[in-house]
Amino acid sequence: MASKAGPSGAVVAGETSSASPDAALDEVRSLLARAEDELHAIERAIERLEDGTYSTCELCGSPIAPEWLAAMPTERSCGAHGAPD
Ligand SMILES: [Zn+2]
Repeated sequence: MASKAGPSGAVVAGETSSASPDAALDEVRSLLARAEDELHAIERAIERLEDGTYSTCELCGSPIAPEWLAAMPTERSCGAHGAPD
């Protein structure tokens, strides 16, 4: 209950001053951004599961190899289109 070191002076607003007092905050932001990307990919994968198109390549309509999906469950294309983004 006793809060000794509370969040003090949060500079999180949309200010783009050159002063970046907290590099750790930037790191957390980029981690969050990456996690958000992953979350979106997972949400899309769930949608495709519900659609019944989960294991179908979005680019060419071919089935995506099960081992491909096992390695990358959010993959949306088969291996024929180069490196996935
Ligand atoms: Zn394909």
